[in-house]
Amino acid sequence: MDFALAPRTPSRTVPAEAAPEPWAPPALRLVCLDIDDTLIDCTAAIRRSLHILTGRGDLWPLWDLITEEHVALVVAGEIDYTTMHQRRTDCFLAEIGILADDEQVSSFERRRRELLDHSWQLFGDVLDCLEWLRAAGLLLAAVTNASGVHQRKKIADLGLAPFFDHVAIAGELGVAKPDPVMFHTVCLGLGCAPAQAVHVGDKLDTDAIGARDAGLGAVWLDRDDIGERAPEGVHRVAGLAELPELLVSEYATIGVPAQRGSGTPAFTVRNGVL
Ligand SMILES: [Mg+2]
Repeated sequence: MDFALAPRTPSRTVPAEAAPEPWAPPALRLVCLDIDDTLIDCTAAIRRSLHILTGRGDLWPLWDLITEEHVALVVAGEIDYTTMHQRRTDCFLAEIGILADDEQVSSFERRRRELLDHSWQLFGDVLDCLEWLRAAGLLLAAVTNASGVHQRKKIADLGLAPFFDHVAIAGELGVAKPDPVMFHTVCLGLGCAPAQAVHVGDKLDTDAIGARDAGLGAVWLDRDDIGERAPEGVHRVAGLAELPELLVSEYATIGVPAQRGSGTPAFTVRNGVL
């Protein structure tokens, strides 16, 4: 008896197992930037204004300390920015031995604002960095703890507005960094996941750690180069000229400027960092 072996027909079709995808980091789409002392040299301008108004050049540390205490009240939702400005100046004048009534406090604050409006300056590395980020096709957002009126005027006066797709100001939103709601509101507004965004700012706690804890990439801009080690999950740069290289090395999926062929660098940066 012959037994012919018929070709076997599988009773069911089993899909081929898909090869596992290699892990890739999320593509970077959005860079958020703090404004004060990140893009604009606020400390120098405020130092000058205090010197002119009081005749003393040693009052910046006191002003900075009083500002931190009063901004904390704003961040906690206890007072608004208008109240904060008045109370801060009142407290500052009392600390240096000047007894002033409400009108005199208002007058000091008004004069200080006038001086500041004429002395804001960008840091020297800002425009090259912003132009690079735009050329890289990234969305840009300003994310700042300040009052809306003053911050929008600064941004406009210094020519920063055209760089930004979104401007988020604590005084307008009713929420402030490091609250993750501040960061997530920006991401949502621009259609990005937090993992697709990086925030850059000069305050280690408010900017960098706040951004990290909200799920964004975190870059601490340590312009004074104080030498403190960045905490886990936070990158540190001493100037914005270092930012393109950091973004390219940590977020390699950004691909602009375009590769122009073998033998040419994948990235070309105007300031020569890469
Ligand atoms: Mg700042």
